[in-house]
Amino acid sequence: MKIRYPVDRKKTHITQGYSWRHKAIDIAPLDKGEGLPIYAVEDFAWDRVVQSNSRWIGYGNHIILKHRDGWTTLYAHLLSMKYKEGWKTGKAGDIIGYMGGKRGKPGSGKSTGVHVHFEMKSYGRPVNPMNYFIT
Ligand SMILES: [Zn+2]
Repeated sequence: MKIRYPVDRKKTHITQGYSWRHKAIDIAPLDKGEGLPIYAVEDFAWDRVVQSNSRWIGYGNHIILKHRDGWTTLYAHLLSMKYKEGWKTGKAGDIIGYMGGKRGKPGSGKSTGVHVHFEMKSYGRPVNPMNYFIT
């Protein structure tokens, strides 16, 4: 599966890459400000929309989307989530939420600075998203 970038590339940079102990990438805004839109990377069905104000659960507010052929993507530390009861599906590029992650803020989870934590899995197996972005 090829995917679009989950945020505006020109306004962000990758602050942590994919590794055995971080099976995701972290993308942060160049101006360090919260609130950048987060986009669905491919056509999807809503899977989970989780509101979590705990500072002890890592993801905080997060969304999991299901895509075709067993692919899923996860977007964590969201400032807010753009979902309404009853929504079933959406398109690549739809705004699904806004970037958060400020330390100690409700919804940030264990994040210590503004960024989105982005995971991609194939049938539950983590992959490096860098290999799937449309260039
Ligand atoms: Zn991360």
